[in-house]
Amino acid sequence: MTVWDDLVGQEKVSAVLDAAARDADALVTAAAAHEPPPEASKMTHAWLFTGPPGAGRNQAARAFAAALQCVSPDRALGGSPGCGFCDGCHTALLGTHADVTAVAAVGAEILVKDMRDTVRKSFTSPANGRWQIILVEDAERLNEKSANAVLKAVEEPAPRTVWLLCAPSIEDVLPTIRSRCRHLNLSTPSVGAVADMLVRRDGIEPEAAAAAARATQGHVDRARRLATDPAARERRASVLGLPLRLDEVGACLKAAQELVDAAAEDAKQLAEEMDAKEAEELKAALGAAQGGRLPRGTAGVMKDLEDMQKRRRTRTQRDSLDIALGDLTAFYRDVLALQLGSRVAIANADAEDALERLARGSTPESTLRRIEAIGACREALDRNVAPLLAVEAMTMALRAG
Ligand SMILES: [Zn+2]
Repeated sequence: MTVWDDLVGQEKVSAVLDAAARDADALVTAAAAHEPPPEASKMTHAWLFTGPPGAGRNQAARAFAAALQCVSPDRALGGSPGCGFCDGCHTALLGTHADVTAVAAVGAEILVKDMRDTVRKSFTSPANGRWQIILVEDAERLNEKSANAVLKAVEEPAPRTVWLLCAPSIEDVLPTIRSRCRHLNLSTPSVGAVADMLVRRDGIEPEAAAAAARATQGHVDRARRLATDPAARERRASVLGLPLRLDEVGACLKAAQELVDAAAEDAKQLAEEMDAKEAEELKAALGAAQGGRLPRGTAGVMKDLEDMQKRRRTRTQRDSLDIALGDLTAFYRDVLALQLGSRVAIANADAEDALERLARGSTPESTLRRIEAIGACREALDRNVAPLLAVEAMTMALRAG
């Protein structure tokens, strides 16, 4: 097993990263022995990982971070760094390595205050003498100010600092930043590759693995969730049951309310799991006695945490809604495929009866119009339109007939 094993269907990307990690390791080894650095190193200080949602750009960056921090003794015997087991690999993958700092958007944007400490850290030396790694998930969510802060740091990196930026596409990142990055693009893994991974890694039965992989069309995390979490399967089934129910206005409004409520419930659950615990941890860190008053001047810090949690809640709700809309889009794509006489790539084979009924009862033009209505809803949500309003407009447009 190595850190690259979880990158499904990304052999080219893994090979590039593996070569860079070997050269990076040679650099560290030479420096420790006070030797000159090896020439023609494949290691660079800034990387940009792009690829469609679910292809695993964050996992690729995380695996690379682990390989850079690998301290396995096998490296000295010619083995590749990235064993997956040593303390360096393990903590980097887990997110607890002292020299790997990950930043992810909690809301619609990564604010400059979210980046400030990280940028400062990027100018310091790594504690363990290897690499100071800054991993920015959702780099497309850097706003103007936070992107500029990152740009300054990427322009003048400290000798052992590595920036790993992840975004859906290269156009999502400021030209000035991306021109300084080595770019790696991940492609959507094949349904077969995802199914194999679910069997091999998660011990899923081959048939269930194939169904989950097909239903999620190469989105690795969603496929795993669908294969392992009954609640996710239930949610998907209820979303796929919607199209046939949308016959009159009342039913459309009810369906919209259900979609929004389910997403809100997801956000609430996550908040219940995390918010109180984070607040307790922060209070402990600030030195408050149990149930006692917080020290002077710390109210602002608590307020920052509450702001972050509120942004995260909104984001979780929107992400959850987006998954449902993705399922609906896949459903109508299947309807369209049937109407055009192609059964080859049906994603939702388990909903075949509903697909057939809608395919017979409507035209390809109306199906296309419905797919567009879902796209319009996603765009509206991106622009912060109130979720219920956007989803109601969509379900009305999906109405049969
Ligand atoms: Zn290792």
